[in-house]
Amino acid sequence: MKLDATDLRYLSSDEFRVLTAAEMGSKNHEVVPSALIAQISGLRGGGVNKNLGELAKRNLVARVQNMKYDGYRLTYGGYDYLALRALSKRDTVYSVGNKIGVGKESDIYVVADRDGKQMVLKLHRLGRVSFRAIKNTRDYLGKRKHASWMYMSRLAAQKEWAFMKVLHEHGFPVPTPIDQSRHCILMSIVDAYPLRQISDHPNPGKLYSALMDLIVRFARAGLIHGDFNEFNILITRDTGAAVVIDFPQMVSTSHPNAEWYFNRDVECIRKFFKRRFRYESALYPRFRASLNEEGVPSFSLDVVAANGWRNKDQQVLEDVSPTKMLSCH
Ligand code: ADP
Ligand code: MG
Repeated sequence: MKLDATDLRYLSSDEFRVLTAAEMGSKNHEVVPSALIAQISGLRGGGVNKNLGELAKRNLVARVQNMKYDGYRLTYGGYDYLALRALSKRDTVYSVGNKIGVGKESDIYVVADRDGKQMVLKLHRLGRVSFRAIKNTRDYLGKRKHASWMYMSRLAAQKEWAFMKVLHEHGFPVPTPIDQSRHCILMSIVDAYPLRQISDHPNPGKLYSALMDLIVRFARAGLIHGDFNEFNILITRDTGAAVVIDFPQMVSTSHPNAEWYFNRDVECIRKFFKRRFRYESALYPRFRASLNEEGVPSFSLDVVAANGWRNKDQQVLEDVSPTKMLSCH
């Protein structure tokens, strides 16, 4: 999907009002009746239809005619637009550059502020997961099931943002979190290659230890990355130090399957080092030993627990995350 920053400047204030009204209406309606959009926007009927037509031409909303009524739904383009507009109003983003990545669950863009300083914008796209996975979560979504892609993408972004912030504050090697809106996270750009692209390393043993130490450090803070692999570990160009990214699937060390997730992270690194660098070590961290004698972390950075996010929200994310089904690459 193309992200167009120029559009940000060319939407009239009425069009923007109508788009915002469509977003508000979609909290309770899969297809928001045009009359409701008009009502929320506070604009007169005729004008609203014209505005909706314009927005549909730009793919910010899509017209849907169902058996009961005609209406519109917000598209990913519209949601992207609203998020970008919020970031631009707060002056954290000024321009949008190239797409540098398409992940399983996200699009990654290079963006810049007014001074031309580059940053990374991650847009969560949870609607990409298989329909079956979404269907399984219907019970949790309750009345909001129709808004699933918006709701889940926003939830994933909020969770990733909260983890990135707390990890950054505690000195973990992660990008600097800058701003967040809806399904988007703005962070510092890391001048690095993903570990996946490194074919040769002067000291694989040292890097291996550093990564295993990081897994233990996470566990001591009550956390397991959950997707700790060569795609989510960036090796900085200048010092060769590792920076970890991609946190929406983090799990607590008190999760019933914590040990399994922990071992999977450890195994991913062991396998990769063996395959790529022919490096093997008898030393690798064990879950119990990484916690203290009582089997609890030394301190807890578990923001999901701390934020009092409802278990239901948590469950939704866990159930739809494709990461859950991943094994090592
Ligand atoms: P996904 O959840 O889709 O896997 P990631 O957060 O892992 O998304 O990002 C996908 C890719 O984008 C990464 O493998 C990396 O190459 C690039 N990337 C993500 N964040 C940054 C960043 N802050 N700096 C530089 N590159 C990044
Ligand atoms: Mg990733």
